[in-house]
Amino acid sequence: LLGYIGIDTIIEQMRKKTMKTGFDFNIMVVGHSGLGKSTLVNTLFKSQVSRRSAGWARDEKIPKTIEIKAVSHVLEEGGVKMKLTVVDTPGFGDQINNDNCWEPISKYINEQYEKFLKEEVNITRKKRIPDTRVHCCLYFISPTGHSLRQLDVEFMKRLSHSVNIIPVIAKSDTMTIEERQEFKQRVRKELEMGGIEFYPQKEFDEDMEDKSDNDKIREAMPFAVVGSDKEYQVNGKRVLGRKTAWGIVEVENPNHCEFALLRDFLIRSHLQDLKEVTHNIHYETYRAKRLNENGG
Ligand code: GDP
Ligand code: MG
Repeated sequence: LLGYIGIDTIIEQMRKKTMKTGFDFNIMVVGHSGLGKSTLVNTLFKSQVSRRSAGWARDEKIPKTIEIKAVSHVLEEGGVKMKLTVVDTPGFGDQINNDNCWEPISKYINEQYEKFLKEEVNITRKKRIPDTRVHCCLYFISPTGHSLRQLDVEFMKRLSHSVNIIPVIAKSDTMTIEERQEFKQRVRKELEMGGIEFYPQKEFDEDMEDKSDNDKIREAMPFAVVGSDKEYQVNGKRVLGRKTAWGIVEVENPNHCEFALLRDFLIRSHLQDLKEVTHNIHYETYRAKRLNENGG
């Protein structure tokens, strides 16, 4: 008769390790200027941070983003620390000539892989390599109600092989419910026709359970988001929202927009998978290419 071995304590062991070391999670936002990228970055932090910690600068006007800039905050919950970094990028495709406008973004992504690689091959390798690799890239689609722009397709197509792309529909409070549903459907179709592999990629579903979970998510994408870093009082509760002449759009209310869906998807259900796909697929592709260059 077999006694208790204790294999199941692995979960507890992993928990302890993570509690000690914490972990990095890095999100990048990309898209045309004015689509609310910087605002959404603040929304993400505020919805995660501010309810607990005070001292957040209020009513600061968000300046126009002019360079790629990473902002980090360490969030802690139940003794587990996450260093959440959001990489904000300047308006993409704002120029008259947009040839190669994805290059600075692509360069940034590769530079983080290179940094990680350098640390990995270092003789006196750090016990834990700081991870600045971009785990997901939120691509902001303009809420035109028409089609994706050629540039959107081009960017996502190029970058989808080096980073997890998650398309989102920006400023979705500017569309009616029907327009939103129709636009989402159209964008999904165009992504498919364009052969764009956004995250969660079908080919990486590991089993039937994964597939059925991810199918539901893929059918709900791209998430139609609204961003705001202002708080209002609604039914005695402080909520993040946008005040309009006809009422308050509550950013975290699932009846108003899909920001909460996106956040839960990123942080609560797919964070570990985003990190694994980044490491095992995207980084591995980069690494293999680099080592080939050197060896050959
Ligand atoms: P970025 O250039 O993409 O970083 O865009 P910003 O975050 O700087 O926002 C540009 C403008 O759009 C600002 O006036 C924001 O207040 C506004 N804005 C941001 N998010 C939303 C949104 O979800 N809905 C609406 N209607 N306006 C938004
Ligand atoms: Mg900006």
